[in-house]
Amino acid sequence: MKIGLIGLGIMGKPMAKNLLKAGYDLAVSDLNRSAVEEAVAAGAKSASNAEIGADCGVVLTMLPNSPQVKAVMLGEDGVAVHMKPGSTLIDMSSIDPMVSKEIASELEKKGIEMLDAPVSGGEPKAIDGTLSFMVGGKREVFDRHKEILGAMGASVVHCGGVGAGNTTKLANQIIVACNIQALSEAMTLAKMAGVDPQLVFQAIRGGLAGSTVMESKAPMMLEGNDRPGFKIDLHIKDLNNALDCAHSVGAPVPMTAQVQEVFQWLHSHGCGGDDHSSIIKYYRMLTGLESL
Ligand code: NAD
Repeated sequence: MKIGLIGLGIMGKPMAKNLLKAGYDLAVSDLNRSAVEEAVAAGAKSASNAEIGADCGVVLTMLPNSPQVKAVMLGEDGVAVHMKPGSTLIDMSSIDPMVSKEIASELEKKGIEMLDAPVSGGEPKAIDGTLSFMVGGKREVFDRHKEILGAMGASVVHCGGVGAGNTTKLANQIIVACNIQALSEAMTLAKMAGVDPQLVFQAIRGGLAGSTVMESKAPMMLEGNDRPGFKIDLHIKDLNNALDCAHSVGAPVPMTAQVQEVFQWLHSHGCGGDDHSSIIKYYRMLTGLESL
């Protein structure tokens, strides 16, 4: 079966390469020609979004946010116009779950199935093919397409109906952001109290406070490494989606609102392109500390 992938950015490009490695017949599209050429060199075929819609039984999207996915799928001459009944959209972008539901309901009118399947793991796991997929959609549609996602991920979990994948991703993003802020705050306290943050990290990483976030982000903070990884501006996008979703369902999210303000402050101080571990810079700027 032919598969199409639209969106060959930081994540989409290595994911395309893993689909090719697994033997899938893959067509790709992106606004960035050099990303398309790299995927073609790895064995993909270059196609327009419309050609992907017309020729592929499964269309994958890995785009920045809700407006881009909506425009690509449902805009004028969008991919949905060209897809055939019985085909499936798997949107792997992190978007507002309400928009996932909206797109799915438009596609349903044309007999097209949809899964929302955002990922966690970032570029290194996209390269290794060990992403974690959180998937929303009908169980039988999930079962039929699990293998495709398995070519790019180490874990593929069905979380419920359409939108459940992106709701799970929002939960993930809230926990990661709050965790990074707690880590930044605690390391700054240690430094100001005269205890070496490197030793604090060594002493507590194996205890209850230890976490994947600590293992991945504490070394970056200690080295002063702000290379993304996952950009602050993308995390702002995810938390905006989390706040919108929370407001629409009436869920209390004061911690999300608070950490979003810290991210916004960093964005307005020129740090939007830095890794999200740069929350430590907020504390550095406020305290005058040069480094941890
Ligand atoms: P990116 O900005 O690097 O890539 C997006 C790609 O989409 C770009 O190459 C862009 O040219 C392309 N694009 C935009 N509009 C298009 C169109 N109309 N037709 C074809 N291509 C188009 O973003 P990314 O980092 O790869 O992230 C993609 C999604 O995955 C986002 O929703 C992000 O939040 C999520 N995500 C990213 C990471 C990460 O670490 N980067 C981790 C987990 C999830």
